[in-house]
Amino acid sequence: MTDKIDIKSDTNPVKIQPAKSSSNSHKSARNRIYVRAVQGLFQTVRRRIGFLFMAAFMLLPWLQFNGKQAILFDLQNQEFNIFSLTLWPQDLMLLAWIFIIAAFALFFVTTFIGRVWCGYMCPQTVWTFIFIWFEEKIEGTRHQRMKLDEQPMSNQKFFKKALKHTCWVLFSLHTSLTFIGYFSDIANLYIDFFTFNAGFWLSFWVLFFTACTYANAGWMREIMCTHICPYARFQAAMFDKDTFTVSYDASRGENRGPRSRKADPAILGLGDCIDCNLCVQVCPTGIDIRNGLQYECINCGACIDACDGVMDKMGYQKGLISYTTERILEGGKSHIFRSKLVGYGIVLIVMISLFANALLTRKPFDLDIIRDRNQLYRENFDGHIENTFTLKILNKSQQDRVYQLAVDDLADEYQWIGEQKVLVHAGDVASIPVSLVVAPEYLHEKKIDFYFVITMRPQDGEPVTLYEESRFFNRFR
Ligand code: SF4
Ligand code: SF4
Repeated sequence: MTDKIDIKSDTNPVKIQPAKSSSNSHKSARNRIYVRAVQGLFQTVRRRIGFLFMAAFMLLPWLQFNGKQAILFDLQNQEFNIFSLTLWPQDLMLLAWIFIIAAFALFFVTTFIGRVWCGYMCPQTVWTFIFIWFEEKIEGTRHQRMKLDEQPMSNQKFFKKALKHTCWVLFSLHTSLTFIGYFSDIANLYIDFFTFNAGFWLSFWVLFFTACTYANAGWMREIMCTHICPYARFQAAMFDKDTFTVSYDASRGENRGPRSRKADPAILGLGDCIDCNLCVQVCPTGIDIRNGLQYECINCGACIDACDGVMDKMGYQKGLISYTTERILEGGKSHIFRSKLVGYGIVLIVMISLFANALLTRKPFDLDIIRDRNQLYRENFDGHIENTFTLKILNKSQQDRVYQLAVDDLADEYQWIGEQKVLVHAGDVASIPVSLVVAPEYLHEKKIDFYFVITMRPQDGEPVTLYEESRFFNRFR
């Protein structure tokens, strides 16, 4: 296996290397990473974003709108409620748009500023850092945790480990209940689960997602980012020489080596890196950024904060590790408006516009026409031609609605047999059997294409009308 992966892009090739082991590894014998806590600008930003994201995730399912849960993806009844908007299986296209927009937004952001999604917003990272926080509060600093793991089992060690795992399990359970609360009435879910009334499947899914959260954030951590998540692998296709990523300035840092604060590195033949290894110890994926751009890097900026702290203490200029581009490191000037980024931006804007248009012009009801398959037409006692249909009206709104039915472009005169004014309850489907009868003198063709017209007049807005095409069959002469 080569130890460099060549990643080709249309314009600028970028080399991303697999992680090399550090000389001063911060992993245990079983390859567990002991992440060291660090303070700094990027960690503050990351924590605040993570807090906002977490608060939104935890609070949104508790919001009420019109006396109902504001966000509820009701899989059983196949309806997705998002405040006043209800999406049905017929609206699958809108969901597809959302996924396409999310994908292009990710491409755009990755091309511009690398894997910041992974470092700042990905649930895997946010939850992992929360679990590390529990670990640190209970077992102590990185050094204390390493010592504790080396010690034989004792009462104190057992207590700390038990407390940590209990906190992890409880937080995982809370996460799982919140997540399932997006798909099931959350207030009842909590009560039913803790009173053992939730039923087999609901309890199963709660426990399943609890186990997934515990295993992911507690044990798997960076393995998910480096070995399982496909984004780590294909991100390189979006990188170019102008992508901002966390990078070490080797021309300034090398030769690395320890020295006293008062020593002049130039006299010692050293660069600015004092080889303290702090950037490695704070890295949640366990890599040494000084080895170059690596696909394991999630762009979290922890190593920047660690190194900036060291530079400060040494009296050197900050930024030995920074968000920068390969072109800048080579001494060039980066171009923000390059064809790839502009292309992604244009596609993103077009996608968002199309999605907004589809959402704004979306009808709050649907009409499905099912014709009688056994008999295309029937001749009644008067010699008139009769066609029979079943009209299915789906009320996609959250209010009961009255719908007016009619036809257009059929014949100068016709008879409608069946209901023409129909009340459909919110989120319900009504099936209306209808027969259309036309005298032969008004029928000049074997088949006539016409429209069923359905109109809804809300009390507080403009009438909405929908035309659905159908076909009337005459006798075959
Ligand atoms: S934190 Fe900075 S000074 Fe310390 S080893 Fe890393 S790059 Fe060198
Ligand atoms: S190398 Fe730096 S930015 Fe990349 S994952 Fe490690 S700490 Fe985060």
